Amino acid sequence: MNYVWSNWSGWVKAWPKSIAEPASEEELAAIVQEAEAPVRVAGTGHSFTPLVETAGTIVTLRHIAGVIDHDPTAFTARIKAGTTVRDLGPMLFDRGLGLANQGDIDRQALAGAVGTGTHGTGGGLGSISAAVAGFRLVTADGGIVNANRDENPDVFDAGRVSMGSLGIMSEITMQCRPAYALEETGGAMPVAEVLSRVEELRDANRHFEFFWFPYADLAIVKILAETDKQPKPRRRRAEDELSRDDRIFITACETTRYAPFLRGPLQKYLTSGSGRYSSGSLTDPGRVRWSHEAFPSDRNVRFNEMEYAVPADRGPDCIREVAAHMRKCGVNFLFPLEFRYVGADDAWLSPFYKRDSVTISVHQYHRQPYEELFAGVEAIFARYEGRPHWGKLHTLEARELSKLYPRWDDFQAVRRRLDPKKKLLNPYLKRLFGEF
Ligand SMILES: Cc1cc2nc3c(=O)[nH]c(=O)nc-3n(C[C@H](O)[C@H](O)[C@H](O)COP(=O)(O)OP(=O)(O)OC[C@H]3O[C@@H](n4cnc5c(N)ncnc54)[C@H](O)[C@@H]3O)c2cc1C
Repeated sequence: MNYVWSNWSGWVKAWPKSIAEPASEEELAAIVQEAEAPVRVAGTGHSFTPLVETAGTIVTLRHIAGVIDHDPTAFTARIKAGTTVRDLGPMLFDRGLGLANQGDIDRQALAGAVGTGTHGTGGGLGSISAAVAGFRLVTADGGIVNANRDENPDVFDAGRVSMGSLGIMSEITMQCRPAYALEETGGAMPVAEVLSRVEELRDANRHFEFFWFPYADLAIVKILAETDKQPKPRRRRAEDELSRDDRIFITACETTRYAPFLRGPLQKYLTSGSGRYSSGSLTDPGRVRWSHEAFPSDRNVRFNEMEYAVPADRGPDCIREVAAHMRKCGVNFLFPLEFRYVGADDAWLSPFYKRDSVTISVHQYHRQPYEELFAGVEAIFARYEGRPHWGKLHTLEARELSKLYPRWDDFQAVRRRLDPKKKLLNPYLKRLFGEF
């Protein structure tokens, strides 16, 4: 039987011999032991890179989901690895807990988000992987390894961001915090002003980020602040349920595909709908939500994306250069840039390893080619010592990556020890790790 697996953007496709859906850790271990290589574990396929692509076996943990238990004093929770971040929110909330930070969407499996160093924004806040306190890993030979700061600490340091290359996480212990509410404010601000005030805005707000359409003189600032105000419930759209704004944006994308000269005016128009930002201004006075409902946006207009993490203090210069390049390179695009802060951590392959960072994301509508656009901005990121998001498009391989990650060799040693036969490596990961 032929199976087809596709990622969210539709640009990565795989035709594995089998797709396995174990319902327990024991079943998972038996499957990994017997399965035809390369064995790749999928979350919900939201990575843009071919991390999951295989002609062998794809394993999904969608039946290994739910919270196992929690510690109300330490604010930790043991979570089955296939739980989606969306399902996890209410489960933690019912236990009086919330994740310290989240990214733009919550469709990912927890282990998928952890596996690539998925992050949100916040000067002092780390990525989702940085909040991992421990995990259970099913290794290529079907063995089980417990890893945390005390037990197998090298597997813990290597495994928190490891793209399913050390084994398959069956369970993750997350360091959470007491449940909390967030109030969203924001609006349009002149780009020059945002760029001159980024550090002040970062330090004054738990979560600060901005979006910038490179042809616009205004950026859209988004701020989430912790509040004691009473949160309102949020109606979540079903996957692919388009909002009015989504429809307008798709129309703009399709229009500029055929009429590129309209992208400047359209980018200005799309920015102008936001209202001016002034400190404490509300985008919508109803926007006080519990954290798990406040973080995620619905991203229903499909795109491909490149994102690099650069040293935090170089972020403003880097985004200025990226935007200038995009305006003059002649490639057609419409989507905005996104600028976020992420705190340093100590996972060996984390893009934020020992470095407070700014992440800059470049998006391209999924029906337009991205290669030339991304190649141009990638050269700029390289000059800023950028480290790529593992789930987003980039062209780096072992030779370049080993220079960006001080613990690269230590990571490879742990990986080779746990998977000496390279059963978990697909051709893409072999290139990434320099294994041939
Ligand atoms: C619309 C959209 C918005 C996004 N927003 C953000 C954002 O705000 N911030 C950000 O940082 N990223 C963002 N991303 C990227 C996304 O969070 C990452 O690519 C994430 O890894 C996807 O999770 P997933 O569950 O889809 O995993 P997949 O893409 O399916 O897999 C990701 C990696 O995790 C591994 N993996 C999955 N399950 C396990 C397991 N049980 N054990 C070990 N390894 C495992 C896989 O093998 C693979 O290497 C976004 C992506 C999209 C499409």
